[in-house]
Amino acid sequence: MEQERESLEFDIVYVGAGPANLASAIHLQHLIKRHNAQSANPLEPSIAVIEKGRYTGAHLLSGALLDPRALDEFFPDYRKQGCPIEATVTKETLSLLQSKRKFPIPFLPETFSNKNSLLVSLSRLGAWMAEKAEAEGVQLFDNTAASAPFIENGRLAGIITDDKGLDRERNAKANFEPGLLLKSNVTVIGEGSDGSLFRQLSSLFLSENPGQRYETGVKETWRITEGRLKAGEVHQFFGYPLSAESYGGGWLYAFSPTLISIGFISSLGPDSPLCDPHLNLQRFKLHPQLAKILIGGTMVEAGARTISSGGLDAMPQLHGPGFLVTGESAGMVNMQRHKGIHLAMKSGLLAAETLFDALLHDDFSTERLKGYSERFRNSWAFEELHAARNYRKAFDKGLYAGLVQAGLQLSFPGLSLTAKAEPKKQKKLVDGEETFRPDGQLTFSKERSLFNSGVMHEENQPCHLRIKPEDIAAICLKKCLVEFGNPCKHFCPATVYEITTEPLLALKLNPSNCLHCKTCEVADPYGIITWTTPEGGGGPGYKLS
Ligand code: SF4
Repeated sequence: MEQERESLEFDIVYVGAGPANLASAIHLQHLIKRHNAQSANPLEPSIAVIEKGRYTGAHLLSGALLDPRALDEFFPDYRKQGCPIEATVTKETLSLLQSKRKFPIPFLPETFSNKNSLLVSLSRLGAWMAEKAEAEGVQLFDNTAASAPFIENGRLAGIITDDKGLDRERNAKANFEPGLLLKSNVTVIGEGSDGSLFRQLSSLFLSENPGQRYETGVKETWRITEGRLKAGEVHQFFGYPLSAESYGGGWLYAFSPTLISIGFISSLGPDSPLCDPHLNLQRFKLHPQLAKILIGGTMVEAGARTISSGGLDAMPQLHGPGFLVTGESAGMVNMQRHKGIHLAMKSGLLAAETLFDALLHDDFSTERLKGYSERFRNSWAFEELHAARNYRKAFDKGLYAGLVQAGLQLSFPGLSLTAKAEPKKQKKLVDGEETFRPDGQLTFSKERSLFNSGVMHEENQPCHLRIKPEDIAAICLKKCLVEFGNPCKHFCPATVYEITTEPLLALKLNPSNCLHCKTCEVADPYGIITWTTPEGGGGPGYKLS
């Protein structure tokens, strides 16, 4: 029987309180206020933003380097308004690492440069933007996940939010509250990389989409001893601990002389399922050049998130019947610059201009919403992504081919560019993990990192990771065990997947550990894992990430 739900109506509903949707909601309100100050026909739309985290910023994680170009466009006085900028880039390097040595790239092309960029904590920036959006009259609903689309007359007419208070078997507990039906003229999907509502809409409305590709970033925030780095230093690395065949790299950003962001991006997908992103970061930190900075310091926060890395060629259609797609859900990431927040914000601004136009004409047709795709096509965001469109693909031929194609000078005395490639299936990485023993000072187990992620979920709720029982029996415990040795044990940074042997061979899931990084859904080699939204409020609790 269909669940009865309370229904609320809005003109615009934003799904996801990330930089794209928050920028969009703020800009839309600015446009409306400017219009109302000059018009006899004021617009008074109701605008809501829903966020599955327990507060805005709880699920936001990035390096993060912010190019302020888009922020300048909609918030020119952001500094005066208290925007949490940690530092401005003062120095930057790009280096190739071998296990004991570092080779700085002598010439940094303009396309890699982070000149004038800002160092931010994305979770702090998101929290600040949410305050500004609320001050502009936007209604913000934290703890609220978009579980399902609401389709009416062949268009997205709203969303259904998460049911709260179901037990593991989906029986109603004493505190059961059915999710709400939030009806809207337009829904703006900005869930970040690999959003679950976007997946559902894609299969309903955007079946011609090119496939997206993904990497996984694992990040730690550290307090370090003063005197080792200066605020604003940005150091990026290729190479160690990855083989010359694998794409990925690390970063070290100094927010202040004592607070740093360190992380590692690993390439993941069905063709590289044995990679362990958490292990890659632990090994990266052991490089002597990094260990000497970290030693004596304390890791204060840890987390992980997939990154949409396909660029312009993997971008989905940006509009559909009743909806727009923004930010990383739309693939707004420039992998050449390792940046996407400015592109996400710009997509939000262009979406806001389209929504304003739709409100002005009281026309929410697909034809009117198409204006968003056209605005993007004519924007600097498109130009930037177009210029970088071949960068990530160049690394499919290996690290050195990619670096050469990226225009980087490769003449380092003492460096052999014919370093022996590791086997394609990266079996060695798996063997490596079995022998890797974190020391608890520089390197940490996944359990310890989880402790510093603030993760929490209501334990007694339906498992949000869906795998059919017949797939567990025939694929997980047979085919995958033989072919890959169950890579979910490796690629999940949160030990959600365990293969137990007592009393019987079984797949044990620990969904309450889940960091919502989405790696399992994109790296599962058989495509049998579906990530659905757990009860709103569950997941990590980032504060500095
Ligand atoms: Fe990430 Fe959660 Fe999947 Fe593990 S189970 S890979 S933490 S989304």
